[in-house]
Amino acid sequence: MSGMYDVVIIGGGMSGMMAAIALADMSRKVAVVSRGDPVCCLSTGCIDVLAAGNDPLEGIGSLPDNHPYHLVGEDAVKTSLEMFKAVMLEEGGAYVGDVHANRKILTPLGRHKATCLVPGTMEFADSHSDEYIHVISFSKMKDFYPNYITSNYKNAGCSIFDAGISTTMGIAERFENRQFLEEFISWLKGLDIPEGRIAIPAVLGMHFAVDVCNEISVELGRKVFEIPTLPPSMPGLRLFGGLKNALLKRGVNLYWGKEIYSVEKSGSQIEAVTLAGAGRSTRVQGNAFILATGSFVSGGLHASMDAAIETVFDLPVYLPGKRESWFNDDFFALGHAIERSGICVDQFFRPVDTQTENLFVCGSILAFSEVMKYSCGHGMAIATGVAAANVCGELV
Ligand SMILES: Cc1cc2nc3c(=O)[nH]c(=O)nc-3n(C[C@H](O)[C@H](O)[C@H](O)COP(=O)(O)OP(=O)(O)OC[C@H]3O[C@@H](n4cnc5c(N)ncnc54)[C@H](O)[C@@H]3O)c2cc1C
Repeated sequence: MSGMYDVVIIGGGMSGMMAAIALADMSRKVAVVSRGDPVCCLSTGCIDVLAAGNDPLEGIGSLPDNHPYHLVGEDAVKTSLEMFKAVMLEEGGAYVGDVHANRKILTPLGRHKATCLVPGTMEFADSHSDEYIHVISFSKMKDFYPNYITSNYKNAGCSIFDAGISTTMGIAERFENRQFLEEFISWLKGLDIPEGRIAIPAVLGMHFAVDVCNEISVELGRKVFEIPTLPPSMPGLRLFGGLKNALLKRGVNLYWGKEIYSVEKSGSQIEAVTLAGAGRSTRVQGNAFILATGSFVSGGLHASMDAAIETVFDLPVYLPGKRESWFNDDFFALGHAIERSGICVDQFFRPVDTQTENLFVCGSILAFSEVMKYSCGHGMAIATGVAAANVCGELV
């Protein structure tokens, strides 16, 4: 089995999927090869662009010169985020928020997290501590403890509903059922909830969560919002599902659950990758390749005692010194040096020191991205994915 494409993207995370959408919209024939599901499935589903300050785009100017956002440029970051919003709207998972404004949403610990774009179900999660919040939880629900919120948030109360199941995904599945939703709403109406907002862990279904959230809101006459949960995260899975659907609609070929077994190179050109499979292998040829395999979490990078390797093309990896300098003594401090490691690229997103002309790199595998320190995870992945696709699209 084999396939020939204009562009082969390796890695199906936020950066790879957004690159694929951008290229397909330029009428390029695209394939995405991914070993597994991406980190966005574990995320809150919210798009962090840059946490510091009120305007994340304005904050880009204060980042170190080598941060990948500078390669993209403020205007192009903005355009890519607008493009992301348009794609998710098309997929029925509309995002809300202004790309020029951070908002602070309620976390399961009753704290606030700065983020930029949020799923429609979290539109009203930008709460103010002087307003009453009534938290709804579910009997024996795993990894969601409303007491954390009620003890940290000065003006909050809580009620527990018995959904007959305790897992996040199990409860979310129940919310896809009309009768269950009506029972839940009628139970809520029977409670004597003080004036304020209603907060529910992010379990309001997989496919129609915004509709479910709106229906509860209309029936109760209150603002209702979801609180992100620990993985498995329904908003993260909805985000992944929406983007994957957008790829399929655009005719992007997906090779999912596939490992790269070997790479074929001729001079300065990558020509094909071979995917390992049960029994037979698949050769995927491309005029250009985009590497979007993520950082250590997804296996795009792998660290040993004093070194790190890039796992597909064996590209040179930037490391911040010897292992003893990779981490701060305070584990919870923002900004461990190891976060700066990754692939250094030129202004065209091509890896430096490799003499490879048709390979581009995007997403969290890029050196100096420091995703945790700056809280720029999905935002940086979207912006660099679209930017690398634009450069690559001009080449093929
Ligand atoms: C637990 C957690 C929660 C987070 N929450 C948030 C959040 O709420 N908001 C936010 O903005 N950011 C969040 N982030 C950061 C954000 O998720 C990432 O920075 C961003 O999504 C990375 O996208 P990516 O495309 O670079 O890579 P990834 O999402 O890591 O995707 C890489 C893909 O490449 C595939 N791959 C790896 N190696 C190979 C190979 N050899 N062959 C083929 N495929 C391969 C992987 O299977 C994976 O699908 C979170 C991160 C973590 C770890």
